[in-house]
Amino acid sequence: MRDIICGIDLGTTNSSIAYLKDGEAVAIPIDADQALVPSVVSLDEAANTIIVGQAARNRLAAFPEHTVRAIKRQMGQTTPVSLGGQQFSPEEISSFILNHLVFKASQVIGQKIKQVVITVPAYFNDAQRRATIKAGELAGLEVTRIINEPTAAALVYDYVSFQQETSSPYIMVYDLGGGTFDVSILEVKGEIKEVLASCGDTALGGDDFDDRLVNFFWEQLTEPLRGELSLNLATRIRLRDIAEKTKITLSDQPFCQVSEAAVLSVEGQPLNLNLEIKRREFEELAKDLVERTAEKVRDALGEARLQPQDIGKILLVGGATRMPVVQDLLKEMFDRPIYHSIDPDLCVALGAAVQGGLISGEPLGHILLDVTAHSLGIRTVDEIDPETGEADYFSTIIRRNTRIPTRKAEVYFTVVPNQTMISIDVYQGEKPSCQANVAVGSFDFPLKSAPAHSPVIVEFAYDKEGINYIIEKAKNLLSEARLPGELKNDLNRLVGAYEQALVAGEEDKDIDALEDELLATIEDAEERLLGLG
Ligand code: AMP
Repeated sequence: MRDIICGIDLGTTNSSIAYLKDGEAVAIPIDADQALVPSVVSLDEAANTIIVGQAARNRLAAFPEHTVRAIKRQMGQTTPVSLGGQQFSPEEISSFILNHLVFKASQVIGQKIKQVVITVPAYFNDAQRRATIKAGELAGLEVTRIINEPTAAALVYDYVSFQQETSSPYIMVYDLGGGTFDVSILEVKGEIKEVLASCGDTALGGDDFDDRLVNFFWEQLTEPLRGELSLNLATRIRLRDIAEKTKITLSDQPFCQVSEAAVLSVEGQPLNLNLEIKRREFEELAKDLVERTAEKVRDALGEARLQPQDIGKILLVGGATRMPVVQDLLKEMFDRPIYHSIDPDLCVALGAAVQGGLISGEPLGHILLDVTAHSLGIRTVDEIDPETGEADYFSTIIRRNTRIPTRKAEVYFTVVPNQTMISIDVYQGEKPSCQANVAVGSFDFPLKSAPAHSPVIVEFAYDKEGINYIIEKAKNLLSEARLPGELKNDLNRLVGAYEQALVAGEEDKDIDALEDELLATIEDAEERLLGLG
């Protein structure tokens, strides 16, 4: 039996898992037949157990110190998260969610799930992507690939409704989830989808719309008390729940009646929340949030060098796109009806499952080409920061939105005579100064002694997850003296062909085929060595 590679949408608000069943992408029901699992983790101190999903979400208001939500916003950060006094890294918290999904899904499909594809916002930086892979590893999973959420969504959209006619090859994916926003523009060239541009905001989502209502409710509640109260955590959580329900009602109704008893108590007296809010009022409170998404849409169009009228299809992803204000905005910007995807909440996981199927060799006939979300470059001494007196100029080597895998080189020059070492500080981002970008790492390389202004070539490779690792593994095996000659030849040939294909930027299907062959040969070599050992 072929190993199933499941697709996981590890979302800020909700997560879901899907797989390919007889060639069709299906979401797997996890808790009480729900495919959508709240991304909430809680620690039951008494029983010393971790609770995930709806059961954890139900504990938010009663045990706020023992419960964590929206951990995705902290991925890539090193600050630990406290759960009932115990410290966990964001990766660990995310691994609990993954574990829950995979454990339950394995039971449902009757097969142990070991391999997964996990999606991330296109705007996630390197540290956030690495943290996501780490979370998978901590859950005992092999993360076969990390793919961008809008790319996954476009893939499933195409896969599910491939008979859709379109006059233009350009698709825009507008993804407003609970905590993140992404907009991507893809070009369809036959079977190939290429991401032309991807913009977003990792700190903008449906939660922010809830917060506007929370503040509004709080003002209404405390106005008679002249704002002398401060909003504590338990009340904030309660108000957030009410806010989300109100927001969801306002997607279907032009107004919402809010009546909640004893939202807080002041000097032993319960305060009730009783009001009516109109959709228009809510939209006014959140106007700037919607405008922020519009700005990103304009940025993405600019980067793809396209006008609104060039876009053929607009695909809505993420639960928050159910808000009429989002559809109105896009209708106005693009002057056309907006396409509703099959299920904006599940389509990312379904797309990841399709990608998993492609990796495991299911004959689906779709190819994805991805782009870099950030420019990658190094610090050079072209400009000195007047305040610190340090070099701070960010010199770009690989521009953002370059198709990956890619390799690019730039020539730099040494500054002093007989320089024996060069330090390379790598950054990613779009700002001209390094400080304003994100540090990726620093490396020291020895140099042969040479006069000042000698050229040094710095080459960067931006690859898909795992590529470097595979090459490194194959090269380590090649240096193994006990390896039989013909296997060595095969490995050598495959490593060469694989590297060449990457440099030439060949199509994914060719690279994937080579990758499969190389992996099989590596496995063969490892087995032979074990047998010899
Ligand atoms: P996702 O991350 O895609 O699961 O999206 C979750 C976000 O979508 C949360 O902020 C939800 O409150 C929001 N959401 C779900 N359904 C609706 C709806 N009908 N109207 C407005 N927002 C919604």
